Parts: sequence; C-alpha cells; structure tokens
Amino acid sequence: MTQKSFHFADERKKVYELAHNMRWAFDCPTQQFFAKLSPRVWDRSSHNPIAVLNEISDQELHSRLLNKETLTELNSCYDSLCRYIAKVNTPPQMLKKFEKHPVAYFSAEIGIHESLPIYSGGLGILSGDHTKSASDIGLNFIGVTLFYRQGYFTQRINSEGWQLEEYAQHDYTNLPITPVTDEGGNLAKVQVQIGRSLVSVAAYKVLVGRSILYLLETNLPENEEHYRDLTSRVYGGDSTTRISQEIILGIGGAKILRTLEYEPAVYHMNEGHSAFLTLELLHEQMLLGKSIHRAVEEVKKKCVFTTHTPVAAGHDRFTQDLINFSLSGFVSSLGISLDEFMGYGRVNPSDKAESFCMTVLALKMSRGANAVSELNGRVSRQMWTGLYPGKKAEQVPIGHITNGIHNLTWLSMEARALYENSIGPKWHEKITQPASWKAAIAKLPDEEIWALRYTLRRRLIEFVREKMRKQQIRYGNSSDWVEKILSADALTIGFSRRFATYKRAPLIFTDMDRAARILGDPKRPIQIIFSGKAHPRDDAGKAFIQQVIRLSRDPRFTGRVVFLEDYDMAVARQLIAGCDLWLNNPRRPLEASGTSGQKVILNGGLNCSVMDGWWREAYNGKNGFSIGEDKDSQLSVDQQDKIDAANLYDVIENKVIPLFYDRVASGLPLKWIKMIKDSIRTIAPIYNTDRMVREYVTKYYLAK
Ligand SMILES: *Cc1c(COP(=O)(O)O)cnc(C)c1O
Repeated sequence: MTQKSFHFADERKKVYELAHNMRWAFDCPTQQFFAKLSPRVWDRSSHNPIAVLNEISDQELHSRLLNKETLTELNSCYDSLCRYIAKVNTPPQMLKKFEKHPVAYFSAEIGIHESLPIYSGGLGILSGDHTKSASDIGLNFIGVTLFYRQGYFTQRINSEGWQLEEYAQHDYTNLPITPVTDEGGNLAKVQVQIGRSLVSVAAYKVLVGRSILYLLETNLPENEEHYRDLTSRVYGGDSTTRISQEIILGIGGAKILRTLEYEPAVYHMNEGHSAFLTLELLHEQMLLGKSIHRAVEEVKKKCVFTTHTPVAAGHDRFTQDLINFSLSGFVSSLGISLDEFMGYGRVNPSDKAESFCMTVLALKMSRGANAVSELNGRVSRQMWTGLYPGKKAEQVPIGHITNGIHNLTWLSMEARALYENSIGPKWHEKITQPASWKAAIAKLPDEEIWALRYTLRRRLIEFVREKMRKQQIRYGNSSDWVEKILSADALTIGFSRRFATYKRAPLIFTDMDRAARILGDPKRPIQIIFSGKAHPRDDAGKAFIQQVIRLSRDPRFTGRVVFLEDYDMAVARQLIAGCDLWLNNPRRPLEASGTSGQKVILNGGLNCSVMDGWWREAYNGKNGFSIGEDKDSQLSVDQQDKIDAANLYDVIENKVIPLFYDRVASGLPLKWIKMIKDSIRTIAPIYNTDRMVREYVTKYYLAK
C-alpha cells in the first residue's frame, strides 16, 4: 500500500467494517489497532471499537491513517477479516444442508464480548463461544437473543462487604449493532400478544465473523410503558416479566426470522427459556390446515434442545393463572383449551396441580435433546424418566455433548506468541490432530512456559491492584496498601464464577486454622483471588461474597485473599490467564459442565476440581488435580461438604503445594511444568467449541 493510492473514503469504510464485525473479539491485532487509536477510550469503554470511533473525528482519522504504520496495520487486519470470511475449512457436504437453511440458535443470553453486556454467566458465554465456532467452521448460523439495554448489572461492594447492583443504560450508538429495517428503511417489527396487549418487537443485527445475531427489544414508542422495559435487564423482574421476556424471545424471535424470510433447517433451543418458539411454529403449521397432532410432528422435525439444569427446582415453571393471563389469546388461536395447552408443559398432562414447565415443553417439541456433560446426561435422563412411560432411565432419549470454549477468545496474547514461536503459525490447526499436537507440545521449552507463567501472573496482579486502587478511591479510602497485596512468586489460585451457593466459594475456609496455616506459610506462599456476582435476589450467594470479603480483611489473610469486584468477560480473561490453579468445588452433580476451567489450559493454568461436569471426563490422573473421587454421594449435604473440604485440604497440602514448590537447581518446577504440558496436550484438543459445534452438527443438526 503506497501513499499515492490512499483514498480516505475507502480506508474509512474498512475501519467501520472492522469495528462492525465482532470477529475482533477474538482477533488480537484488530483489538490493538483500535486500542492504539485512543488508548484511554478503549480502556474506559470496556474495549469497544465503536466507542473509539465515535470519539474520533473524520479529520483525525484521516490524519492518523496518513501514518504508514497505522495504515499498514489497518490493511493487514482488514485482509485478515476478508480471508476469514472467505475461508471454507469444513468438508462442504457436512454443511451443505444448511447453505440455504441456517441453524437458528435461541438463547436467553449471548456473551460475545464485555462491551456488549447481554449475558449473566456461563450459559451466555457458552452461547457466544458456540456462535464464534459456528462461524469458524463455516456453518450457516443465526443466533437469537434479547437486547438488554441495561445488561445484567454492575457489581459494587459496600463497606460491609455486601453486594449492590447498579444498572446503567447502555448507549446503543456505541455498540456494533445495526437496526434491522425493511425495504423502505423502516424498522422491521413484529407483534406478539401478551395478555390483552399487542407488543411490538424490533431487532438489531450483530455480525460475529460469518454468524449473525438478532437482538430483540420492546423499547419502542408505540408500546405501553411497562412493556418498553421488558427487555431491559437479563433475568430481571418477577415471573410475569420472565414469561413476557420468554414470549418475546421465543414467539417474537420465530416471527422475526419469518419476516426476514429465513427458513431455518433446525431450531436449537439452548435451555428452556426459548421453548415458546415451538408454539409459534405450531401456529404456522395449523394455519396450513394441519391437525394439532400432525402440526406437533412437523414442529418436532425442526427442533433440538439442550438442557443444562441438573435440579428439578431450577427449571422455569409458570402457574396456570400466569399462563392464562399471558397466553390465553395465543392458546385460543391454536383452537385448543387452556387445559390441553397446559398438558404440553406437564409431565403428566392430566395432573391439574402441575405447573407449566418450559423444559417439558422443549422436550415434547424436539426431535433430539442433549445435556452438557456425560454425568449431566445421566442426571437429566433420571430426572425426566416420568416423561417417557415404559422407559427406564438409561433409555430416556437425552444424550450429551460436553461443553467447550472458543480457544482464540480465551487465549492470552502472550501464550499465543509462545505457540506461534515454538510450534509455528499453523499451531492452531495441529490441535485437532493428536499425533502432531503431541509432538508440538513436546517442543515447548520448559523455560518459556515458566516465563509465560510469570508474565501472566504479574499482569494479573497488576490488574488486580489497579482495579482495587480505583475501588478504594471511589469509596474515599486510602489506597497505598493496595500496592503491597499479592506476590508474583506465589502460587496463585483463582476462584471466579457466579456466587451460586452450590459452587461453595468459601469451602476452603471450612477449617480456619488450617486455611490460615496453608495460606500463611512464608516459605511456600499461596494466594487466592475470588471474583463473581450473586444473582440480585440471591441473599445466600451475597452472604458468601460478604464472608469472603471479611476474610480478605482478616489479618491472617490480608494481601493473600482478594475479592475482585464486577466479574465479567474482561475480568475473566485476566484471571484465567494469570492463575496457576483454577479451583472448582461445587456440590456434585450440580455443575452441569462448567467451562471456566477450560479457559486456563492453553494459558498454562491447571485445574483442581471436584469430579463433576467436564472435569471428570478430562481428568486422567496426570493433567491436573482431583478433589475426591468420581462417585455419587449417599450422604447428607452437610456431611458431604465436610468430606469435600477435607479432600480439598488434602489435595492442596499434599499434592499441589509440593509439586509447585519442587524446584530444580535452575529454579524451575519441572514436574509442575510437565503437568502443564500434559494438560495442554490432552485437554485443549477436546474441550473447545470447535469440537463441540461439529458434534452438534453431526449428532443433532444433521440427523434426519
Ligand atoms: C466462563 C465464564 C463463566 C462460566 O464459568 P463456569 O465455569 O461455568 O462457572 C461465567 N462468567 C464469565 C464471565 C465467564 O467468562
């Protein structure tokens, strides 16, 4: 690119195209390009390219692009995007069926990047990673979710250590979203009936590589006031809000796709929240003159369903009154009675006491269903045996596909450089070939792995200190002490996840003296960084946060136990890269899969986890640590908690610490490094969304 051929309008177009395709969320060079345009806005705006562009005048952009280096970077990023979009890397016959008929993926939350905060936790991140890998492999894929203008919430901690929730209205002009319009340029809208009202729903489009997301919202002037706020918060409000959100997502989503003339080959419901979409499909079939039974058969041919929830109480349920209030209009358009309708959401259709369960509706309306790990599959089959009279639990037609993560999203720049330098630029393609991946990992120099661990640990510590400093200043406290917390030489444990009580954040403090002894050893220092949000209505979860924060202020633990505010994807990226050990101690079998532990692997972190979810499949005795054994508990919750705590202490004291601090003369912990290599070699190729999405294609999307 020479100076002469510079046409500002063309270059400007490239910049805007780059910013409006969220492929940048997993492309470091593009992120760096935008960060350099305005480092301050980049930092302040949750790393948002559009916010950066909105700050910069055309005059400035023009001038900046006159710099050769900047222009070269732009063109290299832009070419890389074009190549990415054009690339076909999956046997076309596998994806041919979808060329004209996409997979439509419905999820109540989709987390692509922290600057588009329309997710609350694991379910949303999984949906985002699914979307990205679908794009990577070239699957024709559209995602449907809601546009939560206020997101989930910003977590603040008050002086008592109690979580407070702050809600801010996100500025949609600062997001990589485009309103969906009809040919006349007007907002494309559909109407859904909720109770006696017709509610208008509009959609915004987001590009993620080759995948497309549609975000639905009801914040439109023609809607009654209380319907305008319907889509403002992730899982906000009471059950009336919840059913209304689910009507918008399911029925509104299916209608929007019709308006946009999509004819999906498959509708994939990720969790039961979107199961009302089957009703809209049912309605369409009946308008074609089919009987309800024939219509159900037709709908089933198109739908597949993923369940994540391993406890009966966790499934979405609505009372008959609420169904009647919200959906009676829809029910009569189907020409059936309310009671008959309730039957689609009941295990036993004639049991009038049963409420309407979204999971039941999804299972009844799908041709295929799966759970998200092997154990979660077993638990789900057990839980839903009643739906399949005459079948034993093991015959219940719910399979499993174990969750994964999108490697490039969660790989630190520094680790990526190590793979590129030691293995070569095509290292990422080797991952899927066991023999070449094994050979490649053997080539990683021990010194380089250890240097990487120090780099990432140091970066995390500085990130934590900076975040804590800002927090102290916000509260008017002195912040000098913040510079003294944490040490780059210490074994760094991460515990970061939603503060749902079943995840048992404070388990390691069950025996305070023992915890103090472990954490206070001056020769073999250990530190733990906690982070995570509790659901706004979960006071027990908030009490766990408070307990951890109080402990972080206890003199026995100061500087070694830290709680980091406002866990989101940006905080997660730092933690999963910087921690040496990722701790996961849920009550088995409640962690359906879990994914955060998978994010540490390529960055050189190790897992220490209860034998639950994905970890009991990945663990081989050499690639990380197990807390307790792979067996079902027959004990009370209290008894099991005590045993799990004892097992946790045992593995930390007798396995983790000795291994980490066993140093050879050069200072390297060679056995620890060997475990890192075993972990990368055996786990990275399998526990990723590339493998996961391919499995969805072959086992669910393609079948029949
Ligand atoms: C990965 C991730 C999760 C999911 O973690 P689990 O292991 O399922 O608890 C939740 N929140 C954020 C921000 C994440 O990045």
